[in-house]
Amino acid sequence: MENVGFIGLGIMGRPMARNLLKAGYPLVVYDLNPAPVAELVAAGAAAGTSCADVAARADVIITMLPNSPDVRQAVLGPGGVLEGAAPGAVVVDMSSIAPLASREIATVLAERDVAMLDAPVSGGEPKAIEGTLAIMVGGPEPVFERVKGILSHMGASVTRVGEIGSGNVAKLANQIIVGLNIAAVGEAMVLATKAGVDPAKVFQAIRGGLAGSTVLEAKMPLVLARNFKPGFRIELHVKDLANAVETAASLGVPSPLSAEVLRIMRVLQQSGHAREDHGGLVQYYEQLADVQVKAH
Ligand code: NAD
Repeated sequence: MENVGFIGLGIMGRPMARNLLKAGYPLVVYDLNPAPVAELVAAGAAAGTSCADVAARADVIITMLPNSPDVRQAVLGPGGVLEGAAPGAVVVDMSSIAPLASREIATVLAERDVAMLDAPVSGGEPKAIEGTLAIMVGGPEPVFERVKGILSHMGASVTRVGEIGSGNVAKLANQIIVGLNIAAVGEAMVLATKAGVDPAKVFQAIRGGLAGSTVLEAKMPLVLARNFKPGFRIELHVKDLANAVETAASLGVPSPLSAEVLRIMRVLQQSGHAREDHGGLVQYYEQLADVQVKAH
């Protein structure tokens, strides 16, 4: 069994690392925040003292960090993975970052004979806990084959999409679809509520039809319960949609709907909702319509 390093023990990384421990992998972990490191050590992991230290003690180094600058810092910065990784090691970045950043980081690692995959995930905290994430991978096929077994303990599906950066392209597509769905649910349910109709009944009436979706099933009960505890924070979805709009612009692809939902999420981010779940987007419509979506 390969020695695995895990850097970034936040909402997602903590349960993902736990699942690797459960599967029996020798695990060394690190986070800037000591609390989740202590938690994982209590569960059987070894504590790393820096990203470089984790890399020196592992064959496969997984990162689960917020955005491109964080991954650059942890991998290429001072005390980073590159300083500790031995030739032949593999970095698997499971963060959702800009595809171009994945390619650039992989190029620098390759100069030291360290391979890299981008392997972002979908499914959120519940599926991270269950080990049933959807994992979308970019990078060389032989490297994918080497680490697929490790990834399978964190995901129900592990799909190689193409070369490095492709995993994050798939993730941008995922985030566009999820973000626009959340906005559609918010817009529709505020309309129903303002029209005097019970949104819980509307949910029951439409969930089995064409408007039914994973987003509707996951987020509508939380909206009705006024539960916006993250989950997936609005500030992270802002990051993903900004990456989507930027990538679309660089390719000459129109992205008007993503741009509008990004604008709505930024309004919420700047008005005290940044750390709420993205299901809280409904509050933008509620504030303007002066109504609250809840069961009658
Ligand atoms: P988080 O903010 O909860 O966790 C990030 C962790 O990284 C924190 O514990 C932070 O201390 C640590 N960190 C930051 N910089 C570091 C560094 N240089 N060295 C070591 N540790 C560092 O975020 P999260 O919700 O776990 O999300 C992580 C990634 O997964 C993001 O890219 C996010 O978009 C993606 N994602 C999240 C969800 C979700 O539902 N939360 C779902 C799918 C994908």
